[in-house]
Amino acid sequence: MIKPALSGLPLEALQETLKPLPAYRARQVFKWLAGGVRSFDAMTNLSRALREALDARFSCYSSVISAQFPDPDGTVKLQITLQDDKRIEAVILADALQRRTACLSTQVGCPMGCVFCKTGTLGWSRNLDSAEMVEQLFHLRSIQPDIANIVIMGMGEPLMNLSELRTALGVFTDPEGLGFSKRRITLSTSGIAKGIRDLADNGPDIRLALSLTTADTRLRERLMPVTLTNPLPVVKEALRYYQHRRRRRITLEAVLLGGINTRDEDVDALVDFVKGLDAVINLISWNPVEGMTFEGRPLRQPSQGEVAGFMARLEKKQIKVTQRLRKGRSIAGACGQLG
Ligand code: SAH
Ligand code: SF4
Repeated sequence: MIKPALSGLPLEALQETLKPLPAYRARQVFKWLAGGVRSFDAMTNLSRALREALDARFSCYSSVISAQFPDPDGTVKLQITLQDDKRIEAVILADALQRRTACLSTQVGCPMGCVFCKTGTLGWSRNLDSAEMVEQLFHLRSIQPDIANIVIMGMGEPLMNLSELRTALGVFTDPEGLGFSKRRITLSTSGIAKGIRDLADNGPDIRLALSLTTADTRLRERLMPVTLTNPLPVVKEALRYYQHRRRRRITLEAVLLGGINTRDEDVDALVDFVKGLDAVINLISWNPVEGMTFEGRPLRQPSQGEVAGFMARLEKKQIKVTQRLRKGRSIAGACGQLG
């Protein structure tokens, strides 16, 4: 028998689930879980009888760490095995100041099929539930307690699983638990207009990033098939609506593919796309994945000169642009290498 896990429940839902126990009991359990405790037995302010009663009906977690891959640069990738034996990955990234960011997955695989992304080649097998998302952070915290930021940029398209993700975010941001600031959480999407509007209307008020990659429509349709159902002008309208409602700067991520999306046309299209948005462009060099091709040609990383030149051409047009550090490549834990 599989016992339902309590890890993914926000405080109110936990209080509901544990009824007729009084609300303060649920709060105690919630605090223990947020503190990293993984068994009812360790919840020492509950009587033994209560701990046993909880254990008979529920589990704390639904997943386990099944492998750990540390990279010398400070990145750690965890392979996590779910109750149905499916596997996902979650990553801790450390920046130059040693601030740590947790990168979380939202789906097993991904249905979006971006041609440059390893996760995209796996296809989609299912959405994660709130517990499976919350536990990724708990597992990462058990390796590295001081995590400053969360990015929803692991496997999967978060806006295809927004309702469970919202529940998980509710657990992260509850002041009675981890109390994560919404400003320290960023969701990255391949560009689902309806989901962006949903986020604008219904929150939570986290940061938003769009994986733009190129604003040249024809090229983007070939690289990111989501463009066929969510055309760029429609996505841009959704972003404008989001900014109107949320007043937050957004990030436009561009994975640079050597010889493919660093042309002058790509610069011009990006400049045009940014107009009317408060946005910063974040350039990411494509992280190599063995055997990946685009229309028959092998994909390759851009040279340093290609990246620098692309950046310079954007800056010349007064576009705000940053470059993402390469992290975790040796353990295939960098962007787009998960799977
Ligand atoms: N599905 C969401 C979030 C996860 S992907 C999205 O696409 O936004 C996280 C980021 O990794 C995206 O910006 C994606 O464009 C980028 N990415 C995918 N494959 C990559 C690769 N091989 N090298 C570098 N970045 C990659
Ligand atoms: Fe999915 Fe994002 Fe990879 Fe595209 S880049 S296949 S949306 S995980």
